[in-house]
Amino acid sequence: MPELIILGSAAAIPNLEHDNTHMMIQTGEGVVLIDCGTAPMLRLERVGTPTNDITDIILTHFHPDHISGLPLLLMSMWLAGRRKALRIYGLHHCLKRVEDLMGFYQWGDWPEFFPVAFHRLPENERMMVLEQGEVTIYSSPVCHVIPTIGLRIEAKSTGKVIAYSCDTEPCQAVINLAQGASVLIHEASGESVGHSSAVQAGETARDAGVDNLYLIHYPVGDSDMASLEEEARGVFSGDVWLAEDFMKIEF
Ligand SMILES: [Zn+2]
Repeated sequence: MPELIILGSAAAIPNLEHDNTHMMIQTGEGVVLIDCGTAPMLRLERVGTPTNDITDIILTHFHPDHISGLPLLLMSMWLAGRRKALRIYGLHHCLKRVEDLMGFYQWGDWPEFFPVAFHRLPENERMMVLEQGEVTIYSSPVCHVIPTIGLRIEAKSTGKVIAYSCDTEPCQAVINLAQGASVLIHEASGESVGHSSAVQAGETARDAGVDNLYLIHYPVGDSDMASLEEEARGVFSGDVWLAEDFMKIEF
């Protein structure tokens, strides 16, 4: 049975207990990492996953709290002796900037650096990102301040679905991504342009008809954190959870 592990749950400012929002999926054949906030190596060590078990990385958008750990992760993989290829998926807007960023590090000159294949995803709804082991993953553009994708992760054997909103204001694309999902992982940064409140996350969960809502990408360390679940429960009758680092969701 595939498993999703929350590696970070914070919005843009992390703290010791909450890293920037990122997560991994054990597919049965490999490990898919979704985003690369501060230093994914440290979180992966805590869950007992060697960095070189990662087969695929999906980058949702080019904001520092989702991307900035990537150069060091790639270097760590290389220094740990990686030789096998790595696949990285994202929109052109994001991958172009990742290539430019790595260019500043002159990664073309790193001796015997392993092959990295970039897969540019079309900016359309429900595009297949990858199929591996027990899971199939699809992406759709969502409504953030720069081009950004949300994800739909389907388990083949159980038929269960996890949807992830990524950073977005309320939009139909997220409701569509979450159709028939047992779990919606939705951001709760607060109501603003390109973001959502816990109430808005609850409304999306209600409109999509999911069973469970996990709030993620929330401001950590302030007193409002404790009330987020209650706010979502006011509009959504399913189960509501506050995602925490190292939570595991089987599906
Ligand atoms: Zn963002």
